[in-house]
Amino acid sequence: MAYEEAIAGLQKLLSEKSELGEAAAAKVRELTVALTAGTEKAGFDPDERIRAGFEHFKKENYEKKPELYGELAQGQSPKFMVFACSDSRVCPSHVLNFQPGEAFVVRNIASMVPPFDQKRYSGMGAAIEYAVIHLKVENILVIGHSCCGGIKGLMSTADDGSTNSDFIEEWVSICKPAKTKVKADCNNLGFNEQCSHLEKEAVNVSLGNLLTYPFVREALIKKTLAIKGGHYDFVKGSFELWNLDFNISTTVSV
Ligand SMILES: [Zn+2]
Repeated sequence: MAYEEAIAGLQKLLSEKSELGEAAAAKVRELTVALTAGTEKAGFDPDERIRAGFEHFKKENYEKKPELYGELAQGQSPKFMVFACSDSRVCPSHVLNFQPGEAFVVRNIASMVPPFDQKRYSGMGAAIEYAVIHLKVENILVIGHSCCGGIKGLMSTADDGSTNSDFIEEWVSICKPAKTKVKADCNNLGFNEQCSHLEKEAVNVSLGNLLTYPFVREALIKKTLAIKGGHYDFVKGSFELWNLDFNISTTVSV
């Protein structure tokens, strides 16, 4: 075998020239590290990753907080409903340290809230209805983020309405009014800077869309609910939070 021949050759060399021993050992260590890295990459086992992840959670979290998990077994009463992007870098449980039971989370492309529409957006509507009417959350927080691919997609979509995707462009067009605003206000800026503005303006459009849900309006009028915008910048490591006061009253119809 080539491998055995190579080892035998190395042993023969070292028996004749023992002064090479240290250098040979260093080379073998280098080779071992390189080969190990290669095997680990090639051998990534998703099932094992999932099993190990749950084992870690159970040992370090679940079993250490029996009171919390005992309480959560009876039910949930989160104070927050959160809209966050599906982007793998912006999980609100990590970024805002939400513990189990604290936040009812919806994640979608570019964390958008569509307007009330029982046919087109029933999935989002069901989540908002459940959070506001049944869980009685006190806050809805919509979080945009830096370098958002969905926002870049919205910014790049052709104005003539033509599309290159089955779903994405149609979905992000929910925040088209924000794009119109950014194009008008920031036409002197470059694409990336316009996208940064759009990340926040899109949140404002989503907050406005929340008002199209009658049960959201009702809870805002009764002051049992507040709606907030947020922006997480993972390049700078910062988080911006703002409240929108819509000044709505019972006479306003949306
Ligand atoms: Zn995103």
